[in-house]
Amino acid sequence: MKKVMTLIFILMLQISYAQQGLFMPQNIKQAFEKNTRNEDGKPGKNYWQNYGRYSINIIASPPNKTITGTETISYINNSPGTIKNLMIKLILNIHKPGAARQSSATDNYLTEGIIIDKFMVNHDEKPFGYVGANTMKQVRLNEGVVPGDSVQLNFEWHYDVSQQSGREGRLDSTSFFLAYFYPRVAVMDDVFGWDRMNFTDAQEFYNDFNDYDVAVTVPENYLVWGTGDLTNAAQVLQPAFFEKFNKSFTSDEEINIVTQQDIEAKNITTQNPTNTWRWRAKNVSDVAFCISNHYVWDAASVVVDKKTGRRASCQSAYLNSSKNFHNQVKHIQHSLDWFSNNWPGVPYPFQKSTIIQGFADMEYPMMANDSPQGDDLFQRFIAEHEIAHSYFPFYMGINEHRYGCMDEGWTTAFEYLIGINDMGKEKANSFFKQFRVAGWALYPSDETQVPIITPLNILSGPAMGINEYGKPALAYLALKDMLGDDLFKKCLHEFMDRWNGKHPIPWDMFNSFSNIAGKNLNWFWNNWFFSSNYLDVAVQNVVAGKSGYNITLKNIGGFAIPVDFEIEFSDGSKMNQHFTAAIWEVNQSKAIIPLKTTKKITSLKVDGGIFMDANENDNVWERQ
Ligand SMILES: [Zn+2]
Repeated sequence: MKKVMTLIFILMLQISYAQQGLFMPQNIKQAFEKNTRNEDGKPGKNYWQNYGRYSINIIASPPNKTITGTETISYINNSPGTIKNLMIKLILNIHKPGAARQSSATDNYLTEGIIIDKFMVNHDEKPFGYVGANTMKQVRLNEGVVPGDSVQLNFEWHYDVSQQSGREGRLDSTSFFLAYFYPRVAVMDDVFGWDRMNFTDAQEFYNDFNDYDVAVTVPENYLVWGTGDLTNAAQVLQPAFFEKFNKSFTSDEEINIVTQQDIEAKNITTQNPTNTWRWRAKNVSDVAFCISNHYVWDAASVVVDKKTGRRASCQSAYLNSSKNFHNQVKHIQHSLDWFSNNWPGVPYPFQKSTIIQGFADMEYPMMANDSPQGDDLFQRFIAEHEIAHSYFPFYMGINEHRYGCMDEGWTTAFEYLIGINDMGKEKANSFFKQFRVAGWALYPSDETQVPIITPLNILSGPAMGINEYGKPALAYLALKDMLGDDLFKKCLHEFMDRWNGKHPIPWDMFNSFSNIAGKNLNWFWNNWFFSSNYLDVAVQNVVAGKSGYNITLKNIGGFAIPVDFEIEFSDGSKMNQHFTAAIWEVNQSKAIIPLKTTKKITSLKVDGGIFMDANENDNVWERQ
């Protein structure tokens, strides 16, 4: 009877854990009530998002640092309400003196920001008004944009490329990286309305999926690399270079399109005073460009979809003196191939990937700006991380202002998984521990113990870093281990199918995984995303039972983590035994783990691996 009662109690406990809901702020509840999002994790029948068509012309004449631009934006209102005000993002105002920044700026970083020279709404010129040191500006419309209608905006603007380069700016006197360079309409969504967040150079971005036509005008012998397809390569490149460029799209072998000798011969582009390079990218969240008159250029391609044979272009542009950038095209080919076929195991969702030499180690759609590294292993590690971002946030439309856990978190998990493939588990573990978790795991603190779900925009410093990268990556990896690769992949793929090109929030991910897995995972999500837990388990005791032992493990830190036991027996033999995070489903502070054996245990040790234990002193049990 006692046994039956215990069983009933455990079952009830399991049911209550399974049924526990997830904390949901009131504004997010409203989205579910309005059916823009479904409780099963799918986009709701009333889901909507707005989009824009951007036609942009920019002119650059290095070493002159001024960039001038004109653009037409057609912004389409798919929301159920009339839009009376528009929020315009002017990200480069981060360079203005007095702008709010999460890190200090030197004189070389400061510029006058974006200067709007002309602004028109539906062909009527309007004063743009005072912006100050803000990275956005609200513009009042004379006439509201009714649902289904659109508004046309025209901008003329200029800005100076900053001397000190960050995510964008001057790479050297005649190499510029152009990102966030154009006025754009902020995201308006069903959960938060307008995204009114200032860019402070820490929390990243939140963008709609738009269509872009961009014309970049540069002097002769300047080359341009960027997001999307170059649609007039035959007009801007001399025939010999065009031929090599063209061939790279079907070549597995790397082609050195432009070498140092070619640069010195100064006959790469059409010999006009200026050339206009035309780019087209559809359904992307942003565009970025690199221009230089002395970067060498390599390219190849790789099949990213084995079913259809679709290839993606892999390109790199850099200083010939950068030793390991000569391997970059191979790193890109490898990354696209591996991510497409393993984790996430979704064919690379774009037509190309270009890595240019800069300083930022920063991702953009189809582009990365990476720093040169002395160690090729590290050069590849960075390349893989930035390319992994192609999925989160660029395929999945993540709101990185608030939910870095879905952007850096997934990317860090993929970075770890490709790292195991490339370097072996030991080295991948050491990279992961060193760069992603050690600082927090070994010294949990008031800042770093805030729950992962905390909106990122109210965090700074170490709290922001660990809640974006290490903690959520560990959560995804613990879930992968607990569900098994097949079920985990099924959940991940279906979630990605449901939400790619849209704006999923964490609750859509939580609900999707539970729905697709066919089991309520709220206990796990609560444990990882809504708690102040950290990583610390302790072996309480090891007691002999009928068919072996019962190991009592206390969870002091609280996170539901997998554990590995290293066990030694009296006959000198050893055994390693793995248990997934499922051991914490019923009781998250204590687990009694049965271990079947006929041998006598003399010592037992818990090894958390990448789940670094804050206090390892209590991880060992030894027979007295
Ligand atoms: Zn990242």
